[in-house]
Amino acid sequence: VAHPQRLLVLLERDLQPADVERVRGTMAGRGVESRLADEYEDTVLATTHHEISPESLDGLRAIKGVRRVVPMTTPHPLVSSRDHTASEVRVGAVGIGPRTFTLIAGPCAIETSEQSRAAWDAAAAAGATVLRGDLFKHRTSPYSFQGVGRAGLELLAEHRRRLGLPVVVEVLSPGQLELVADVVDMVRIGARNMQNRDLLLACGRARKPVMLKRGFTATIEEWLLAAETVASCGNLDIVLCERGIRTFEPSTRNTLDLSAIAVIRERCQLPIVVDPSHGTGHRRLVPSLALAAIAAGADGVMVDVHPRPDTALCDGPQALLPHELGELGAQLAALARFVERDVSPVGAAADDHDGGNVARLSRGPR
Ligand code: PEP
Ligand code: MN
Repeated sequence: VAHPQRLLVLLERDLQPADVERVRGTMAGRGVESRLADEYEDTVLATTHHEISPESLDGLRAIKGVRRVVPMTTPHPLVSSRDHTASEVRVGAVGIGPRTFTLIAGPCAIETSEQSRAAWDAAAAAGATVLRGDLFKHRTSPYSFQGVGRAGLELLAEHRRRLGLPVVVEVLSPGQLELVADVVDMVRIGARNMQNRDLLLACGRARKPVMLKRGFTATIEEWLLAAETVASCGNLDIVLCERGIRTFEPSTRNTLDLSAIAVIRERCQLPIVVDPSHGTGHRRLVPSLALAAIAAGADGVMVDVHPRPDTALCDGPQALLPHELGELGAQLAALARFVERDVSPVGAAADDHDGGNVARLSRGPR
């Protein structure tokens, strides 16, 4: 049955203007007028209301240069696929998604070569398959440690190679995104930047998976619209990260909103991971919340670790000690088996990737 609806047409990336016009012409020939969604004009066509049958929808999907055609039944149609098939995002050889449980760990910030090496070794030993460790810190105070900056890039590259694990780092600006692009496997948009439009657009145009943290005063709907902004530029490789929101409760640094996992599952096909370190701010609370996250259906957790948290330049009170991360890693792996998720997340596509990585990543418990 035909009924009026608004459509969003996501184009292939890097179409020439002539190709965009050809697609629009073909669509117009079938009675579907369109306009370029402003700002994202290289990627998305929005159409006006049309009577359209399921068959003609399939016809539009078959036009060369068209990547997706989605009815605008929600304000964020690209991240809310209609059938809600959970998607998997590949970060290097690691798949973050419904079949796996991914432990992401490392220091909050790269401080020294000894400190970061010890933290990454602890992460790898605990079964982490993605490493974190920031070069740039977005601190609330201008007098706090701001990160070692580009000086840490080589260190990051060296240990990524040595451990054979992909890395995620935060970028605060489009310029930083370019700076780290050759070295990192995934970029992170921090809570303070969740609605930084230029950064969202730059990450959307990049060919790199993006972790999008929830702003600490953002509703889930606002968070999804930020993800949609990234997706509207053609990048659908987005992993959401719940990291706590601001409430009246002072016992924890933030109030970790685990209900967001269930709500996101209802509204969105993107993977979601949880950061219990920033979510609680206290080392002793991190394991319970990490375990709660996996039980609630999260696709992974991201945890801070530091060899000497008492000397940390950033977020020491929430960093686990290496042996604590090891214990947590074992508990998460046990729970992952129970919820039928693989913690050795080189999925079916393992063969596409280099042998070193595969050997390294396959070592975790099944
Ligand atoms: C972080 O993960 O180091 C961080 C700065 O977190 P958030 O952006 O959630 O505050
Ligand atoms: Mn931190």
